[in-house]
Parts: sequence; C-alpha cells; structure tokens
Amino acid sequence: MNCLFCKIARREIPSELIHEDTEAVAFRDIHPQAPTHILIVPKKHIEKHADLSTQDKALLGHLHEVARTLAVREKLSDYRLVLNNGAGAGQSVWHLHLHLLGGRNFSWPPG
Ligand code: AMP
Repeated sequence: MNCLFCKIARREIPSELIHEDTEAVAFRDIHPQAPTHILIVPKKHIEKHADLSTQDKALLGHLHEVARTLAVREKLSDYRLVLNNGAGAGQSVWHLHLHLLGGRNFSWPPG
C-alpha cells in the first residue's frame, strides 16, 4: 500500500523507531512539536479515527497502552495525547496515529 506510515511500519522508509510489536509501531516525529514527540501507529491501515469500528476496540486500547508505556520510558509525568481526525483538525497523514507529546507545558485550548 502506498502509505507513508505503512511503509515506515514495514521498514521500507527509515524512521527513528522506538517500539514495535505485532500490532503497532512507534517512532519519533520528524518535525517534533515538543522535546518528546512520538507517533504511535497501528500496523493495520486505518485512514482516520472516524473509520474505526467496534472490531478495533482492542487495537485502540493497545495504542493507549503503548503510549502509557512510552511515557514511562521517556520519564514523562505530564503528557498530551493528540489524535487529529480530518484535514480541518490538522490531520496530514492518512493513516491513524496517536501523538505522544511531552517535556514542556501545553496550553489549552489547543490552536
Ligand atoms: P497529523 O498532522 O496528525 O496527520 O500528523 C502527522 C505527523 O507525521 C506530523 O507531525 C509530521 O511531522 C509527521 N511525519 C510526517 N512524515 C514523517 C516521517 N517520515 N517520519 C516521522 N514523522 C513524520
């Protein structure tokens, strides 16, 4: 499949991969928005959050478990998880991914 994150997951495109298991990979964002900025990506190609089905419940839980584990590994007590759904919400890569951001303070509401 001609998808950037599928290719990264298959290691056809290099990335700073920091986690891999049967269901997901995690790698550092190429344009970090915080000292820690990690993308947690399912191996299954799902374009966006709105396309999730009840069959993906366990997968979604798994992505959050990976995020929590990586937050501990990165020594982040405070962190932000972001999932952009659709261009208007800031999505630019059409393969579902969770952003794990930490290492600085974040404002609210988000921009
Ligand atoms: P989003 O805008 O939510 O779709 O997030 C996509 C993210 O992917 C952005 O933060 C980009 O900086 C990041 N990104 C794009 N290409 C790469 C790449 N080759 N390796 C790592 N991160 C990337």
